[in-house]
Amino acid sequence: MLQPGMRLRVPFGRTTVIAVLLAISDETDVPKSRLKRVSEVLDATPVLSQPLLKLLMWASSYYQHPVGEVINNALPALLRQGHTPEVKGEPAWQLTDDGRALDASVLEQIRRRAPRQAALLQLLSTAPGTAMPAPHIDAVQNNWRPVMNKLVDKGWVAVTKRARSLSLPVGGSTTAPQLNAAQAEAVAAIAEKLGSFGVHLVDGVTGSGKTEVYLALIESVLAQNQQVLVLVPEIGLTPQLVSRFQQRFAAPIAVLHSGLSDRERLRTWLMARSGEAAIVIGTRSAVFTPFARLGLMILDEEHDASFKQQEGFRYSARDVAVKRAHIESLPVVLGSATPSLETLHNAHQGRYSRSVLAKRAGVAQPPRIAVLDVRKQPMFDGLSTALINAVRRHLDSGGQVLVFLNRRGYAPAMLCHDCGWVAKCRRCDANMTLFNGNARLRCHHCGSERRADACCPDCQSRELRPVGAGTERLEAALKQQFPDTGIVRIDRDTTRRKGAMQSLLDSVHDGSKRILVGTQMLAKGHHFPDVTLVGIVDIDQGLFSADFRATERMAQLLVQVAGRAGRAEKPGQVLIQTHHPDHPLLQILLHEGYTAFAKAALEERQQTQLAPYSYMALLRAEAVDGQLPLQFLKHARQLAEQLGAAFGANFGESSVRLLGPIPAPMERRAGRIRAQLLLQASERAALHHLLEPWLQQLESDKLGRKVRWSIDVDPQEMF
Ligand code: ADP
Ligand code: ZN
Ligand code: ZN
Repeated sequence: MLQPGMRLRVPFGRTTVIAVLLAISDETDVPKSRLKRVSEVLDATPVLSQPLLKLLMWASSYYQHPVGEVINNALPALLRQGHTPEVKGEPAWQLTDDGRALDASVLEQIRRRAPRQAALLQLLSTAPGTAMPAPHIDAVQNNWRPVMNKLVDKGWVAVTKRARSLSLPVGGSTTAPQLNAAQAEAVAAIAEKLGSFGVHLVDGVTGSGKTEVYLALIESVLAQNQQVLVLVPEIGLTPQLVSRFQQRFAAPIAVLHSGLSDRERLRTWLMARSGEAAIVIGTRSAVFTPFARLGLMILDEEHDASFKQQEGFRYSARDVAVKRAHIESLPVVLGSATPSLETLHNAHQGRYSRSVLAKRAGVAQPPRIAVLDVRKQPMFDGLSTALINAVRRHLDSGGQVLVFLNRRGYAPAMLCHDCGWVAKCRRCDANMTLFNGNARLRCHHCGSERRADACCPDCQSRELRPVGAGTERLEAALKQQFPDTGIVRIDRDTTRRKGAMQSLLDSVHDGSKRILVGTQMLAKGHHFPDVTLVGIVDIDQGLFSADFRATERMAQLLVQVAGRAGRAEKPGQVLIQTHHPDHPLLQILLHEGYTAFAKAALEERQQTQLAPYSYMALLRAEAVDGQLPLQFLKHARQLAEQLGAAFGANFGESSVRLLGPIPAPMERRAGRIRAQLLLQASERAALHHLLEPWLQQLESDKLGRKVRWSIDVDPQEMF
């Protein structure tokens, strides 16, 4: 029998395509002669459950994005291509007799010399007699296949083909610590609401034991034989978090992230849907994972920008998770040391409950934070003498040091010292970034690259100089200052290769590298117990920006980076270089903390009627022809005004305001001219009533076909 959520093969022009059945109807306006038969029904049971379909339809209408593309986001690629929802004969790994017979002293040696091999042996030994498929192993180690192959070569591990899935007893070796009062209160408040809808904010400083709160909640959900979905930011998906879960629970854990192959993705999806995976840990798109018995969702680092998809289907995984919790009547936990202003506002309004963990758990002390006023100070490739001296002190007393700068490359610009010429991107309104020392130029907006000019194209001078510093230059400068200390740089350039991140992190954890230089990739969720000093090289870019969210992001980043210091027994220090030591928001943040900062920032937002005190949508347009985007947006504005007039006061100036169109802050990018029109409303309903008919008009608009346009509901980036 046909049911919504089943896949069909349907005729489309001269070919056929895979479709998902959304609804069944007896009536149609389409003339009978034009109706076509479905070519094939692909599923005996729906691949998408009713609640999930409902969520997807809601998301399509809320974000005003075509439902087909929304569903595409939720289905593994193989299912979109018509593959049957099963994975046969996948490889799996198990200990051989020799592997099982390894004695303790040999194992200890392996642990010292090859910790990654030891970790795999340990994992496989938790499931004697069964072969373990890739998703389980992914859960504890990135890029583990070459490591596993070494074990196979040594004869300790054998590869087999598994015909079907098995439930595996995994982990469960550590016990929970005694929760402190604040943690216990948070757990009790949320556990009481299991089985019903509710949004709970766990607002706890870094190291306050939020993860322990999650673990305690997960334990009670698993005890009821239900499943848990844990969403983490893209880069924060660390093996450390997963292995912590793995050590605590005797339950199969699966991981969903962008690094999986299509088969692995389908496999994990099926494990969640069948109920075989007790815990699924994933990034943004995992919010659409089907579950047999979902009991709880947890979103860690809820403030993180990567939860919002910035292209195509521009959804917020956080807001979709809240909707999903509502549809499926279950609680969702939002955790952060630096909650977003939106979420705090919801908590203040009483829509979300809130538990505060104000102190670090265990022995760790909060770091001491100080500002280094660098005005008039001599700087060495971006580093002040005071910061360099502090680095030396901490290294001398045995600590590790983290130097943070949210800008990669060697230098953000190249300047002619004789005439002032600056290397610009030919396709964007942006300066080129120098990288590979002074050798190459790259545009971080369109990716175009070229060899750095040897002499100035305007005056032929050879005095071309790097201006400012990126992580690459910092690394070089620190190498010069500390030639005998191992330095590791972690940014998108050094971690591109699969597995690179892990081996860089390993070199920090085993102590062979003692200075870490990095971008915001370092700010998220990593634990560096031996780091005693965090140096923040440049905070000023976040203080003065056109984007109204810039200070919020700066504050979050600062607190998160500072939280990397002194996680264990060693107390931490944070030094912040700035030219604006007296900036009011920076002062509040440093002296009164993030909560006070957030309060001040929310007051500012209220006065200026910005989100979360108003609801926004951004219509963006771009085209190669420079006139078209503004023309189109002006026309769009007229249409919106007409709709407003036709529907009466509801859409009048008072409830939906139209701001613009204006050229985008970076008007030209990748050779296209860009412009935008902002819609702002004091009530969400008013905005959505306008969006639907308006976008329908734009769909069929002649001008609209000449530009590339898109709508962004609840935009996070205002350009
Ligand atoms: P967060 O997730 O808030 O950063 P974690 O849950 O990772 O904090 O806890 C920070 C550290 O404190 C960890 O090493 C953890 O094992 C320890 N810890 C957390 N809760 C407790 C507790 N109740 N008793 C002892 N140690 C704890
Ligand atoms: Zn010149
Ligand atoms: Zn460019």
